[in-house]
Amino acid sequence: MSRVYNFSAGPAVLPEEVLQEVAAEMMDYQGCGMSVMEISHRSKIFDKIIEEAEQDLRDLMEIPDNYKVLFLQGGGSQQFAMIPMNLMKNKVADYIVTGQWAKKAYQEAQKYGKANKIASSEDKTFSYIPDCSDLPISEDADYVYICENNTIYGTKFKELPNTKGKTLVSDVSSCFLSEPVDVSKYGIIYGGVQKNIGPAGMVIAIVREDLITEDVLEGTPTMLTYKTHADAGSLYNTPNVFCIYVCGKVFKWLKKNGGLSAMKERNEAKAKILYDYLDQSRLFHGTVEKKDRSLMNVPFVTGDKEMDAKFVAEATAAGFMNLKGHRSVGGMRASIYNAMPIEGVKALVEFMKKFEEENL
Ligand SMILES: *Cc1c(COP(=O)(O)O)cnc(C)c1O
Repeated sequence: MSRVYNFSAGPAVLPEEVLQEVAAEMMDYQGCGMSVMEISHRSKIFDKIIEEAEQDLRDLMEIPDNYKVLFLQGGGSQQFAMIPMNLMKNKVADYIVTGQWAKKAYQEAQKYGKANKIASSEDKTFSYIPDCSDLPISEDADYVYICENNTIYGTKFKELPNTKGKTLVSDVSSCFLSEPVDVSKYGIIYGGVQKNIGPAGMVIAIVREDLITEDVLEGTPTMLTYKTHADAGSLYNTPNVFCIYVCGKVFKWLKKNGGLSAMKERNEAKAKILYDYLDQSRLFHGTVEKKDRSLMNVPFVTGDKEMDAKFVAEATAAGFMNLKGHRSVGGMRASIYNAMPIEGVKALVEFMKKFEEENL
């Protein structure tokens, strides 16, 4: 077996221990003679899997009792519609547009009501987080929306916006479980799991109970109503059984490794190695404002497209995979999620140093 260092933005690296456990249980899950993919979502075996997964997530994030944890399909993108459909009672919402994903959510919301772009960093290719301490929040806004970690551009909100009392909705797809959060500051905190948690095809939405009602926009499908899934404990229809199982294992791995405070320390140490190198390199440099740098997604460039391409090709050949930047930005991007070991980041920096020496 030979594993590479996978710097993909998503689907992304998973903890090796988790993959090994899954492999060991593939033919016969805990003596039931079947794999988890083959068992009923209404079985006792699966009940235990989903209940433990929810409890472990509640423990990790210290989720208050007045929040529901929903395991939903449709990925992160489905929430772009589901949020306005369920929350836009006044048909008004304010969006802070700090990247492609926030922009997509903003555009989708326009189908359902008046979505206002109250701040944006598009003027400088989303390379910073705007000052959100005193924004023109709409008087009748049903919620204020952010994308907390911008996967493509590599920026992160270090401070939540001042929503002036309005409900905050946050997409945390690419920083989910990377550090402790205060769930009580959010109305909805959600993320697709394929960035920092598990396999693709599922989103976890943590929704404050008072936001879960039957009073949704006219025409909202049953499947896109939070209440449907909240009432059924995420088992209204067949959920992504296998994904819930793997996520559950990742939650246990996180607990075993010290929880979210320990993850934060680890992630800060990993990111520092890469950013410190970028800050003194004569060949590579980071592309975003230092104060807004993400711990998870680190974009960088040489300033020369051909040199970037040469670097990506040589890195790939050396076992550093998926370093090519997003098609909208170019250059490189190293995603260094929870499951990327510090050795992977150190090895990447050593490789970059060598490349720098050879190419200057
Ligand atoms: C990847 C990503 C999404 C989209 O997730 P899908 O599951 O592919 O729909 C949404 N938001 C952010 C921040 C992402 O990184």
